[in-house]
Amino acid sequence: MKLLAIAFLSVLSISWLAPSLWAAGEVFSVKIGDFKVSMLSEAQRESGLDILIGASEGDIAKFIPTGKYPSAVAAYLIESSEGAVLVDTGFGREMEHNLKSLGIEAGDIRTVLVTHAHGDHIGGLVTNGKPAYPNAEVVISRLDYEWSAQAREYTSKYASLDIITPGTLETGGVETAGGIFAIAAYGHTPGHTMFMVKSGGEKLLIWGDLTHAMAIQMPRPGVSVTYDTDPAAAARVRSAVLKYVAENDIPVAGMHVAYPGIGYVREDPENPGGYKFIPKEK
Ligand SMILES: [Zn+2]
Repeated sequence: MKLLAIAFLSVLSISWLAPSLWAAGEVFSVKIGDFKVSMLSEAQRESGLDILIGASEGDIAKFIPTGKYPSAVAAYLIESSEGAVLVDTGFGREMEHNLKSLGIEAGDIRTVLVTHAHGDHIGGLVTNGKPAYPNAEVVISRLDYEWSAQAREYTSKYASLDIITPGTLETGGVETAGGIFAIAAYGHTPGHTMFMVKSGGEKLLIWGDLTHAMAIQMPRPGVSVTYDTDPAAAARVRSAVLKYVAENDIPVAGMHVAYPGIGYVREDPENPGGYKFIPKEK
């Protein structure tokens, strides 16, 4: 098995920032029980092979024949009778525009749940040195808070901060906001956290950065990326979570899953140990 890229690149590689690749903001909404969950897209783009770790030449030829695969940068909004909750903030470039298209102002956000402390997830917490969501409490895992100086700096701007220890998939996680449960998925970062939305008997797992390259990480969950602080742990947790959501028929949403960002995971009989992603109808 050939390692395509083993050098650890900076968290934000140049390719993430190429301005020509940034699409206008887009939203996509689904109902989960009494909740409305919306993908807030900051970018729809293609990524390359340079970030993959542990992908064989045969698998690349099979699953990524063009050398490029769809990717995205997104955050999620959860609206319920208890108010509006953001899961991540993206870089912050399209958040205001996207929220306004749903009739939401920054001041309406009561909670910001952070999956992990990379710039494409917490960069939008702060605008011009001030909290971008002035009335929000920020929730972040203790491990990422302690790991990331940017997380400590940005969350210090907020009047209310909740530093948590997420639970596990098997025990249902730790409730962080009404009906939203934090679940540990360590590996991409030391404290990488997923959020399970539960309402009216329905569920949606917002899995943060469990995947970056769906084209190959679904059929081959063992492929990791250079952004993972612990690629082996990231691969283990990815396999376990994919198995769980496929077996339990739980829809998922990801921050780097191409539009519409939300869908179902199914076992892939053609690739034992692998999975397929079925996007929600647009
Ligand atoms: Zn990310």
